[in-house]
Amino acid sequence: MRLLVVGGGITGLAAAWEAVLGRDGRGPAEVLLVEASDRLGGKLHTEVVDDLLIEHGPDSFVSYRPAAIRLAEEVGLGEEVIGTSGARVVYLRSRGRLRPLPSGMGMVLPTRLGPFVTTGILSPLDKLRAGLDLVLPRQLRDGEDVAIGAFLRKRLGGGIVRRFADPMVGGIYGASVDELSLDAVLPSLRVDEATHRSLMLAALAAGRKVRAAGRGPGSPFRTLRGGLGSLVDAVASRLRERGADLRLGVRVDELRPTGAGGARAVLSDGSVESVDAVVLAGGVASSAALLAGPAPESASAVSRVSLATSTVVTLAYPASAFGTPVVSHGWLEAGPAPISGVTVSSAKWAGRAADGTVLIRAFVPERLGAIAHAEDQVLLDAVVRHVGEVLGASREPELTRVARWPGVMPKYTVGHLARVAETEAGLAHLPAWRVAGSALRGVGVPDCVADGRRQAGLALDRVSAGRAKVGS
Ligand SMILES: Cc1cc2nc3c(=O)[nH]c(=O)nc-3n(C[C@H](O)[C@H](O)[C@H](O)COP(=O)(O)OP(=O)(O)OC[C@H]3O[C@@H](n4cnc5c(N)ncnc54)[C@H](O)[C@@H]3O)c2cc1C
Repeated sequence: MRLLVVGGGITGLAAAWEAVLGRDGRGPAEVLLVEASDRLGGKLHTEVVDDLLIEHGPDSFVSYRPAAIRLAEEVGLGEEVIGTSGARVVYLRSRGRLRPLPSGMGMVLPTRLGPFVTTGILSPLDKLRAGLDLVLPRQLRDGEDVAIGAFLRKRLGGGIVRRFADPMVGGIYGASVDELSLDAVLPSLRVDEATHRSLMLAALAAGRKVRAAGRGPGSPFRTLRGGLGSLVDAVASRLRERGADLRLGVRVDELRPTGAGGARAVLSDGSVESVDAVVLAGGVASSAALLAGPAPESASAVSRVSLATSTVVTLAYPASAFGTPVVSHGWLEAGPAPISGVTVSSAKWAGRAADGTVLIRAFVPERLGAIAHAEDQVLLDAVVRHVGEVLGASREPELTRVARWPGVMPKYTVGHLARVAETEAGLAHLPAWRVAGSALRGVGVPDCVADGRRQAGLALDRVSAGRAKVGS
């Protein structure tokens, strides 16, 4: 069996890995992975400059979705997975001040009542309004997706949305909670309302359960000692060892279905490749373009997944630029600012910078408006000024980087799951062609790994099943 993987981001690499392993009666497949750019990894992009380790895209992944850790272990990097350093001190900047996130605060809801009641992040009125959730009846109707923001505003009021949900959830998805889908992004909230009616009661009950099991509120974030680029390099080496053909600097321009359910792929170097199965892991625009001819309904559904733009600004300062040591892991902005938040990489992770250097990542998502589209120097000046003011820097950074991610971050807006279902239905006549990764089923690195593997498995299983049918 020959599998074509379109795109060498983490989804495509995971898909290729699953295919070369082979499973349950299905032998290892021959893999051709085609990546348009001249490097593998897609949004995973680590740069090493002297003793600085700079992540231009993601810098970590969550441990409660184990697919990324499992992949790291399988390619020999199990010992390289590291957790965060020091105490997890994260702040929210609201009303001009950095205030510690209340202990036990989840993405949206508190898992401990005490710290929530005493936090200065919410006004007394906001807290009273949030408390209404305890008595309100259920708000959601079966089968009707809603925006996370609208739902939370009804249950808990605007304070929780402004101060917690938008900075935290919006920060991860690069979009406002007023457009993000409850069912695609935070489906657990629907379950919580169905089972407990009150979201607060559900979150507090979950917190009690975790504490009773002896699990602390430790950080769920993990990364690799050598940066996420080391995962890309390790997967690529293991793939090559197993004979996978990884072609860089070549684009898949067209996919033509073959009679047997496979595809003939036309590549930008003029070559044409025949394969039995395809995993489309090139993202929204790429998948929509390649499916436009062979599966127009799928193409139309994928193309309706909207895309956000984001920028990561990296700044390195000498520690002497600050009057007090910068030891917090960073902060989120819950008010007007040219950034949505900051990670202090040198404090959060071991091995990101030499002692005496403070390495900072600041995020400028499109939802902040004009600043996100400003040219590099204007953007950089605004970010340096703001970060410098918040941290009291007496000097300019010694190194700066601006990494732009224009129109490539999928936004799971209301109705997203219907678009996923439509994409799948439109491919019913081509069961060995699968769309994988962040375009449809989760933007986090572990989601991409899990989905890449799952879709590769499904595509190859369909080929096996088709052959068995012909043979019988
Ligand atoms: C700034 C930023 C920070 C993030 N932070 C985190 C984080 O901390 N933790 C986390 O879990 N997630 C994070 N994410 C999300 C996560 O990085 C992405 O969702 C994930 O890496 C997407 O992987 P992918 O393989 O699906 O897509 P991509 O990485 O976009 O890869 C797709 C690849 O396909 C190639 N391609 C496209 N079309 C073709 C074609 N026709 N032929 C050949 N090649 C093609 C592209 O060149 C690209 O390399 C972040 C994302 C960004 C942008």
